Amino acid sequence: MSGPGKEKGRVLGSTESVCPVCLRRLPAERRQQGEEVLLCRQCPEHGFFAPVIWRGVPDLPGWQRPKTPASPQLAYTRMAQGCPFDCGLCPRHGQHTCTALIEITSRCNLHCPVCFASADEQGTDLSLAQAAFLYDRIAAASGPCNIQLSGGEPTLHSELTAIIRLGRDKGFSFIQLNTNGLRLAESAAYAKILQEAGLSSVFLQFDGCSAKSHQALRGRDLGHIKEEAIRHCAAAGLGVVLVPTLLPGANLDELWQIITYGLSHAPTVRGVHFQPISYFGRFPQSAQPEQSGRPRLSLPELLQLLELQSSGVLRSEHFSPPACEHAFCSFHANYLITEEGSLMPLGAGQSVCCSTGETPLQPFPALEGREKSVSFTARQWRAPAAPVDAADNGDDFDRFLARARSHRFSISAMFFQDAWTLDLERLRGCCIHVAAPDGRLIPFCAYNLCNASGTALYRGKISV
Ligand code: SF4
Ligand code: SF4
Ligand code: SF4
Ligand SMILES: [Zn+2]
Repeated sequence: MSGPGKEKGRVLGSTESVCPVCLRRLPAERRQQGEEVLLCRQCPEHGFFAPVIWRGVPDLPGWQRPKTPASPQLAYTRMAQGCPFDCGLCPRHGQHTCTALIEITSRCNLHCPVCFASADEQGTDLSLAQAAFLYDRIAAASGPCNIQLSGGEPTLHSELTAIIRLGRDKGFSFIQLNTNGLRLAESAAYAKILQEAGLSSVFLQFDGCSAKSHQALRGRDLGHIKEEAIRHCAAAGLGVVLVPTLLPGANLDELWQIITYGLSHAPTVRGVHFQPISYFGRFPQSAQPEQSGRPRLSLPELLQLLELQSSGVLRSEHFSPPACEHAFCSFHANYLITEEGSLMPLGAGQSVCCSTGETPLQPFPALEGREKSVSFTARQWRAPAAPVDAADNGDDFDRFLARARSHRFSISAMFFQDAWTLDLERLRGCCIHVAAPDGRLIPFCAYNLCNASGTALYRGKISV
C-alpha cells in the first residue's frame, strides 16, 4: 500500500477487502485520519481506494469488541478461491445463521429508484416445492433460526400463506415478512389471513414522514399506505418494525419523526430498524458517494444524529454493539415506553445476541422446547405477548413487567457493506444469510455485492 498520500494516518487494524472495480480480494488496512477511519487498499490494476467507514465518536477501537467465531453446523461449500468467493456457507465462516432470507418472488408492485433486488413487474415466483427445499436446507445447516420472507414484494406471491404455513410446520417459529405494505394496506382481511397462517411480524419499508422522503426513495408518496398497512396489522395482531432506508440528502432529517411516529403506533409498532443506504442493486448513479461526493452515513454519525434530533432523549450510551454479527455491522437499544409516554432505556451498554442473548431486564417467561429457539429479536419484533393492562390487579413490579412485555421498543440499525466498504472480517462474522436458489446460504452483503458497474458476484448468477 505504498504511494503518495497512502501512508497517512494510524493503522488501527488489518483486514481484507475487494477492489470495487474488479472485485479481486485485496489486503486492507483500517487507518485513522483525524476523526475518520478509512478502509485502504490498493488494486494493482485499478488503483488505491480509501472510503470512509467511520466518522466521529464513539471511536472505532472503543466500539470494537472481541468476537468468538461460531462455525456453521453444516458447510455447504468448501474453501477453494477464498473469501468472498466460496460462500455457501464455507467452513471458514465465523457465525451461524440467525436470520435466513428466502426471496419468494422477484416481482414487485413498486419500482423504487433504490432497490437492492432490482425488482420489477416482471419476474418469477418460488414454487412451494422450492420453498420446502430451502427451508430444509436452512434447518439442516442452522436449526430453527428466524426466517424472513422477502423479494421482490413477497405479498405478490399467490401462495404466500402456504409458504408461511410450510415454514411453521417445518419448525420455524418466527417468520417475518419484508414488505412495502401496499397489499397489507388494501385489505385488513389479508393481514389477518397471514397472521392465521403463522406470520409473526412485518418488516415494513418506511422511509419517512414526508412526501419528499417517499418520493426520493420510492418515487411516490406512500404515507397514507403505510398508515393503513399498520392499522391492518394492528387489527390482525401482527407486530410491525419500521424499516427506513437512509439516503443522505433525502431523509436524514426525519429520524426522530420516524421514531415518534413508531411510538405513537406502539405497541403494534415494535421498533425502528434503520438501514443506511449501501450501493448495490438499483440506486441512482447520482446518489453514489464516489460520483456525487455525498458521504456514506457511518455508525457513529447515525448515533450522533439520533441524539441531536431527539434533543438527548436517545443517547449514544444507550446503544450497544451486537454480540452476534460483527460489531461494525450494527447497533441496538431497547426502551420501555412508560405510562407517561416517555422512553426509559433498558439494559444500556449490554450486548444482545440476536439468536440467544437476553437483556439484563428479562420480562419474558421461561420458554420450553422449540420455543427456546425463538430469539430475542423474535420476541421483541412479534406482536406484544400480553395485553397492556394484564397486571392491573398486581403490584407495581407486576405492572412494570407487564408493561415491559407489551411496551418495549427497539431502535436499531444495520450498516450494509458494498464493494467500497466491504471488510471481509465483518463479512465472515455475518449472521444474516440469503438462501440462494440452489440451497447455499450466502451472507447478505456478499449475495448483493456488485462491482462499480453493477455486475453482481452472486445475485442472478445462481440457478437451481
Ligand atoms: S463470507 Fe463466509 S461463507 Fe463466504 S467465503 Fe467468506 S468465510 Fe466463506
Ligand atoms: S425496494 Fe422493495 S418495494 Fe421497492 S422495488 Fe425493490 S422490492 Fe419493490
Ligand atoms: S448483512 Fe452485512 S452488515 Fe449485516 S451482519 Fe451481515 S455482513 Fe454485517
Ligand atoms: Zn481492481
